[in-house]
Amino acid sequence: MRAAIITIGDEILIGQILDTNSGYIAKALDKIGVQTVEMVSISDDKTHILNTFSKFQDQVDLVIVTGGLGPTKDDVTKKTFCDYFDDELVSDPKVLAHVEDLFEKFTGKRQPLLQTNIDQALVPSKATVLFNHFGTAPGLWMQKDNTVFMSLPGVPYEMKGLIDQEIIPKIAREYKRPYIVHKTILTYGMGESLLADKIAGWENNLPEFIKLAYLPSPGRVRLRLSARGMDKALIEKTIEQKVHDLTAIIGDIIVGFDDSETIEVMLGKQLTQKGKTIATAESCTGGKIAQVLTSVPGSSKYYKGSIVAYHKQIKTEMLGVRPETIAQHSVVSAQVAIEMAQNVKKILNTDYGIGVTGNAGPTTDDTPEEIGVVYIALATPHETVVERFNFGQPREKVIDRAVSKSFEMLQK
Ligand code: ATP
Ligand code: MG
Repeated sequence: MRAAIITIGDEILIGQILDTNSGYIAKALDKIGVQTVEMVSISDDKTHILNTFSKFQDQVDLVIVTGGLGPTKDDVTKKTFCDYFDDELVSDPKVLAHVEDLFEKFTGKRQPLLQTNIDQALVPSKATVLFNHFGTAPGLWMQKDNTVFMSLPGVPYEMKGLIDQEIIPKIAREYKRPYIVHKTILTYGMGESLLADKIAGWENNLPEFIKLAYLPSPGRVRLRLSARGMDKALIEKTIEQKVHDLTAIIGDIIVGFDDSETIEVMLGKQLTQKGKTIATAESCTGGKIAQVLTSVPGSSKYYKGSIVAYHKQIKTEMLGVRPETIAQHSVVSAQVAIEMAQNVKKILNTDYGIGVTGNAGPTTDDTPEEIGVVYIALATPHETVVERFNFGQPREKVIDRAVSKSFEMLQK
């Protein structure tokens, strides 16, 4: 089965928002064996949309469209569906009742709807309506010859709800598809080239139906094995064997297998298991370590908080870094990182403390250290370790790598 994804919106084309919907949809389709062959972003323009529909007609089985469904004037998708399917808009009572309910919940009282909101319940008469639990605009499912066209809201959480709860189950129920397995192996602390070199022998022995992809990001490389075919048992057995063989070679740097198993999730599990707590003192990362750690549900069990000590004065006044230390070694130094880690551990009363100070650039102030240099200290119940890194440029990369290195140090 083949699919195309169309995202509609002038905001995407002027770079104001990033199209994240396509990636989400493609991933969900991929999981059930539907291959996405094209993704396009187009403007809120009827002619453009119609041309794009025609282009995909009978070339793919599914066309999934997001955006342009709302009540505002620039939302043209529904009218375009009517044109394409030679149909007209009719009010759907179930959707209308849902719109009324949503407004009542939102405003706390039942009141007459604005015409624009009443219009949210208009759908092409021939469409199968897909219920949107999280918003007013319903999803649509319409077939012409060999191609099904679906329309979903552009708002990411509404789109996700429809994909997960309506569309994927419907496709899975109604169509026969090949079996696909992806296995992700998450590795930390070894660069892509060295890793590739280490596993070259293993990689060369992979059977034809298994593909390997390297997905590097700061400090980590995800290895993804993908297999596709009709023989489910053979695929599963081979993947399992290959992962087993790989673990024998690089077991020491593998931190997880689940695609969603990030290092922050793994760390959370470890800390919860041990009953240990952690606090952070962040300078150049500006709170990003805290942000990533707290993105994990349940992190309050082990993460107490952060002191974002960006300015020198905050380092000394709030975090108790000694002014002499800064004067003697400069603000970007091992000694400052150590005091930050130890003091935050003490102030927030935790088992571990992390201190990060660095020069993320692009300008340098008050330190002889060059741009990209970051010191990360980890204070444990027994000792304090500190490491110096040079993450180069640009600023974004320095910050991201500092975050992931601090997690790596914690994991050891
Ligand atoms: P609304 O009812 O809010 O008008 P809609 O279905 O008309 O919803 P759009 O107007 O196209 O959708 O987009 C609404 C918002 O959803 C956009 O402002 C944007 O923030 C987000 N959005 C739309 N398309 C995408 C996309 N492809 N990727 C990520 N976000 C998107
Ligand atoms: Mg809109």
